[in-house]
Amino acid sequence: TCSKKDFLAPMNAHSRVKKVIGVVSGKGGVGKSSVTSLLALVKQREGYKVAILDGDITGPSIGRIFGVENKQVLSNGKEFTPVESSQGIKIMSTNLLLESNDTPVIWRGPVLAGMIKQFWSDVMWGDVDYMFVDMPPGTGDVPLTVFQSLPLDGIIIVTSPQELVGMIVSKAVNMAKKMDVDIIGIVENMSYVKCPDCDKKIYMFGKSHSQEVADRYQLPLLGQLPIDSELTQLSDQGYVENYHSDWFDDFSSKVKDI
Ligand code: ADP
Repeated sequence: TCSKKDFLAPMNAHSRVKKVIGVVSGKGGVGKSSVTSLLALVKQREGYKVAILDGDITGPSIGRIFGVENKQVLSNGKEFTPVESSQGIKIMSTNLLLESNDTPVIWRGPVLAGMIKQFWSDVMWGDVDYMFVDMPPGTGDVPLTVFQSLPLDGIIIVTSPQELVGMIVSKAVNMAKKMDVDIIGIVENMSYVKCPDCDKKIYMFGKSHSQEVADRYQLPLLGQLPIDSELTQLSDQGYVENYHSDWFDDFSSKVKDI
């Protein structure tokens, strides 16, 4: 049978990627990159070989979160070697290319689709069990182009309680259907804060509608993640891989089977 993968540029001989999961959101700032990073961490700690393709071309933040933004992507003129985080997560992002002087190839075709396709076809990923793609936010032309440029096996939708979750999910569902990609589930980020004294959960944005929406579309709600200042700090400093918490353990067990 003919699969979507047949239409794409083939991967180079140095790459074998088993599963490609896109992480999408309705708008910027809801924590798409953070959730992408956390998902990668979960799988890395489970012992899998993990990669992150930062497809958020205009606001790439994966490099900073993993503390690799000053590392250089090496190129032999034809293929690129991704950088590795301290725990061995392979990362490719536009801002890693911007800082490197020896990769003029990328500048000749500064076309979005071409760049993402190159991230797929010209990066020597090696053996990867899980590749997470930090998608550009929204459901407009840019994310659509990325959708079409990569052989996604499934997507995870990141929402926040302030949003019109129903609308975002319905748009993502439509886009995924059009592209023939599975929706793995929804993650609600910034759901609550925990009182440091009494551990009570405070729902600052009121009642969440994520469960309702997940039920309506028969999608799993994979987690309701708190606002956690330790996560922000470690991510800002590039040490997300040092992050541990009870809620993260909980989330890890919920996404065990993705
Ligand atoms: P997006 O990729 O959707 O634009 P980011 O993941 O970059 O969003 O998150 C935006 C900001 O919010 C970052 O500074 C990030 O560290 C912070 N952030 C995201 N999720 C959380 C969370 N659950 N707890 C604390 N800070 C968070």
